[in-house]
Amino acid sequence: MLNVALDEAQIDAFAEHLKNSADVQPFDFCTRSEGFIYPERNRPGALETFFFACAHQFGFWTLAGDRWDKPMVARLDGRDLKGSDFLFRACTRACQADPEAFLPAALAARGNGQLSDLFRDDAGANPLPMWPEHLALIRGYAEWFRARGETPADVLRRAQAAPKPLYALLEIHAEIPGYAEDPLQKKAMLLAIVLENRPERFLRVTDPESAVPIIDYHLQRSALRTGLVRIDDPALRKKLVAREWLSWTEEELIRAATYDAVGRLMARTGLSAAAVDWFFFQNRTRCPETTEPDCPSCPVQAICARETKLFQPVFRTTAY
Ligand code: SF4
Repeated sequence: MLNVALDEAQIDAFAEHLKNSADVQPFDFCTRSEGFIYPERNRPGALETFFFACAHQFGFWTLAGDRWDKPMVARLDGRDLKGSDFLFRACTRACQADPEAFLPAALAARGNGQLSDLFRDDAGANPLPMWPEHLALIRGYAEWFRARGETPADVLRRAQAAPKPLYALLEIHAEIPGYAEDPLQKKAMLLAIVLENRPERFLRVTDPESAVPIIDYHLQRSALRTGLVRIDDPALRKKLVAREWLSWTEEELIRAATYDAVGRLMARTGLSAAAVDWFFFQNRTRCPETTEPDCPSCPVQAICARETKLFQPVFRTTAY
């Protein structure tokens, strides 16, 4: 059995830090780059754009042989953008050109080439490393809504009318292609915090206890480097340091442990999933993939395990 374990002392230390840290706030998915990365507040089509775009937040990196190679970066509208920002910018661009671009019926009416065109960069290429998977999910997503005669706005109304709106939203998304594949519901929870925290307040959450941790590769890298999750298995450590392809079992153990660690942080601090997620999301620039982490200027340097050689699981999935 592989030895992947939570470090309770580290979880306690990070819980104390987060409780006392002023910059642990939810992000509003707007003001950082309103009208460029994210649609302007109150722009028609913004709701459908986020329903679509959150389902496609995965796979923004390339492989060389059996090792992680580099993050996806492509130039769009004059700016070099990393994967997640690129995808949001491409979707915002399409929404600005046509507010109905991401209605499921409009997606279904597009041919494969037209769907790919939504993601053309400034050089005319679609740079998404997992485009076949994106395309299959777009087709499944559009068909799911067509079969039920619903739109994203209908799904939101249905969730909002339930006694527990967040729980209902997650439950519905457990069926929708693009969201349904991940038992840990990372993209569905991402969508939920977008809808809750956008200036339009699309979703009014009355059941914050229904929130689940949002575990992507940045969170897993942070959990391993900070020591929230410990790897005592020498062979697995070696693979993580070498950025080698992991097995399904290895990835599942690390992601499940990270999910538990973040769940405990949420429970011990009383902070929302959105606030904890934004704290660790910012950590992706302090503790990056391609350059040496800047530990001396990092706000958690006093409590961090500084396992800077460890890397996130290298594993192809549409979950994150
Ligand atoms: S930058 Fe250094 S101190 Fe900060 S999380 Fe990364 S390893 Fe820890």
